[in-house]
Amino acid sequence: MTNIILFGPPGAGKGTQAERIRDNYNFLHISTGDVFRYNIKNETELGKRAKSFINRGELVPDDITIKMLAGEIEKADDKNGIIFDGFPRTKAQADALDDLLNEQNEKIDALISLEVDDEILTERLIERGKTSGRKDDADENVIKNRIQIYYTETEIVKAHYKQQKNLHEVDGVGSIEDITKRLNNVIDQLI
Ligand code: AMP
Repeated sequence: MTNIILFGPPGAGKGTQAERIRDNYNFLHISTGDVFRYNIKNETELGKRAKSFINRGELVPDDITIKMLAGEIEKADDKNGIIFDGFPRTKAQADALDDLLNEQNEKIDALISLEVDDEILTERLIERGKTSGRKDDADENVIKNRIQIYYTETEIVKAHYKQQKNLHEVDGVGSIEDITKRLNNVIDQLI
């Protein structure tokens, strides 16, 4: 399997591009944000525990998130790989992911980071908030909090994979199509 982390701050375009990668390469797409939102909508126990963190733009605690992720990985059986979208977001999550994959004789082949300036991120998220129905896209302070947390807690994950020589940085500004082409160029070298 080829296992790829699509990385970047909120609004970088991870979700949009991960869906395209899923379809182009027959990968399992794991979006931890989508799994949380599904659980919130269906009022599950997990959804109830995660909801207040998400609505404030904070990270859901690692123990809850890692346990959920472990369950999702098991669905990859008939796929060519996994595209991780929104996970890992802390160093502890990156370590847990390495361990979980290691247990299955798998590993992360690449972290691809979508590079986008903060002003563009905020603009994109405010625009998305008009139609997404997401509470965390509706309030500019929550958006700012999410971007801030990216820099204080999440960006360090990049260094983790850089050390393993698995980091690829891709310009995340341009048309959706152009960015897909840039990503495909990287992924085609990995598979
Ligand atoms: P996303 O859809 O990736 O923007 O995630 C939406 C929200 O879900 C985030 O702002 C967090 O509150 C929560 N979330 C998603 N993935 C994670 C994660 N890996 N660790 C902690 N919280 C997460």
